[in-house]
Amino acid sequence: MTIANLNIVPFVSVENMMKLVLDIGVDRFLTDLAVYIEEDFRRWELFDKTPRVASHSHDGVIELMPTSDGQLYGFKYVNGHPKNMREGRQTVTAFGVLADVGSGYPMLLTEMTILTALRTAATSAVAAKYLAPKGSDTMAIIGNGAQSEFQAIAFKALLGVNKLRLYDINISASRKCASNLKGLGFDIAICTSGQEAVEGAHIITTVTADKQYATILTDNMVGTGVHINAVGGDCPGKTELHRDILLRSKIVVEYPPQTRIEGEIQQLAADYPVVELWQVMTGKVAGRHDPSEITLFDSVGFAIEDFSALRYVRDQLLHTKRFDELDLLADPDEPRDLFGMLLRQAAKDAA
Ligand code: NAD
Repeated sequence: MTIANLNIVPFVSVENMMKLVLDIGVDRFLTDLAVYIEEDFRRWELFDKTPRVASHSHDGVIELMPTSDGQLYGFKYVNGHPKNMREGRQTVTAFGVLADVGSGYPMLLTEMTILTALRTAATSAVAAKYLAPKGSDTMAIIGNGAQSEFQAIAFKALLGVNKLRLYDINISASRKCASNLKGLGFDIAICTSGQEAVEGAHIITTVTADKQYATILTDNMVGTGVHINAVGGDCPGKTELHRDILLRSKIVVEYPPQTRIEGEIQQLAADYPVVELWQVMTGKVAGRHDPSEITLFDSVGFAIEDFSALRYVRDQLLHTKRFDELDLLADPDEPRDLFGMLLRQAAKDAA
């Protein structure tokens, strides 16, 4: 099966996404995806950008994340519902579409729950490549839920991090994470507090889920020279770091108009200076320039990362069979005769 037929839309189900990731290998998938993300961030100015469109409710949020580079258009539907976990469901679940700008026709429909975890981890690791101290090999991961293993594997694949210090308020989450990462070359310590987890860590990843202003890291927990990868605070009213940490850090964000609403920096004044990740990647602004500097990637997840992920998956489908053919595009014999197509179907059904 190939995707040469323009009248079908390839659809990547959760099962096919898992098979695709396993065919390619998680490490290679993450490093390849990181290349696509860097390519797209380097052509940042070309993209049509907007903060995601969020519909908030008491228990969570549903968001649409669109962007376009003028040739391709992509969007993701994603939710964030911390209470879902207690009901045996995912906190975050997503799907996305890639379309051809020239015709407006969709070119790909895919699950994006697994893909979001992969793109979030790849983006975090790409940012850390520019910001983390040289030779970083030890990372604390606070919050050991669905995203955590992907973060660990991306940091190993892109930076060589091979020592993990895990902490979660629920120890079974840390045990699950440690067990899933067994045999992948990590030296893993399960810690009993956040304070213990950050001891000796060059990189601190916070990836907890709670719809509130939380203080996962207090100021005294963060020593000089550390890189913080703050992933979990990604919604208005939802943060993980004490404000004082922000005041001591070089803060790097994806897209300021979105991060000011959703990221850790919602705790700061609207004009507080931040650096944009694309500026660091293109060398317009230095990444880490002092070993004692505290760097903070205030990650909220931006549409261009999803666009890169959609583009990467679409390219993989050119040479794999990991998709179904979706009959999503009406294709009457004569383009204006849409109703006639309905009549011909009625005649066929009656025959
Ligand atoms: P999850 O619900 O699967 O896991 C969250 C974990 O955090 C749970 O194991 C929970 O016990 C733990 N936790 C909660 N409060 C804690 C605390 N105070 N200290 C230590 N651990 C605590 O969620 P997930 O899918 O792993 O996502 C984690 C967070 O990352 C969510 O808030 C989600 O919205 C966010 N996220 C951000 C991005 C991004 O691009 N920045 C992408 C995906 C998810």
